[in-house]
Amino acid sequence: MQVVTLGTGSPIPDPNRAGPATLVRAGGRDLLFDCGRGVLMRASAAWSGPAAFAAVFLTHLHSDHTTDLNDIVTMRWVASQGPDPLPVVGPPGTRRLVDRTLAMLSDDIGYRLAHHDDLNWEPTCTVTEVSEGVAYDDGTVRVIAAPTDHAPVHPTVGYRIEAEGRVVVIAGDTVPCAGLDRLCAGADVYVQTVIRRSLIEAIPFARLQDILDYHSSVEDAAATASRAGVGTLVLTHLVPAPAAGSEPEWEAEARSGFDGPVVVAHDLWQLDL
Ligand SMILES: [Zn+2]
Ligand SMILES: [Zn+2]
Repeated sequence: MQVVTLGTGSPIPDPNRAGPATLVRAGGRDLLFDCGRGVLMRASAAWSGPAAFAAVFLTHLHSDHTTDLNDIVTMRWVASQGPDPLPVVGPPGTRRLVDRTLAMLSDDIGYRLAHHDDLNWEPTCTVTEVSEGVAYDDGTVRVIAAPTDHAPVHPTVGYRIEAEGRVVVIAGDTVPCAGLDRLCAGADVYVQTVIRRSLIEAIPFARLQDILDYHSSVEDAAATASRAGVGTLVLTHLVPAPAAGSEPEWEAEARSGFDGPVVVAHDLWQLDL
């Protein structure tokens, strides 16, 4: 099993961090979790791409986590040799997002159908909406969903990927909650989107202060990791993006509440387990 943080940024554009997206490779499949800004650029660097995705899982419908879904849909379609629906899994509302994405692309779809004689099928997606329970199971890889708490954004889910005797959790944006604890119980790797509370609190901009109440801080992620007995804590979706060389400060904040290995992820960081 392999985990690759394709994008470790946040809504705030950063030249070195693509939007939130994490690739989990298990049983010969590539599973993509969220599809933020620049996901296909980073996926190509990891020798993956739209045709390789067994499924795309969305943790929630905030734009920073979904903005490049249209790119995945389009590029999977234009390279296809026949109808090849993209499986998309996400919380209730995902069907609506997919339908609207396809509607947004309808002019482009028309241009390409008219231009390419050998392309006579439209892009499609198979959508599975989940709140809790098995979200995906192909006999080799099983993905369990559970509700998380990103209120007032609702619904949101996290995912527990089980394969090859290993467990990886992709949490998405959430504060600590019971659903997250259930997902994380005994996991080998726990990937959590975080903000650094002390830095955000120092920025006098009300809209940034608003994000404090619906994300895990570094300390929150450490507490969840410790409570659930996870192996490795991976911090991603770093807000604000760490200044060069400041990663040890983030690690130190996490270590105050968690004894295990802590990773402050960068784009294309990977772990084999
Ligand atoms: Zn969010
Ligand atoms: Zn986010």
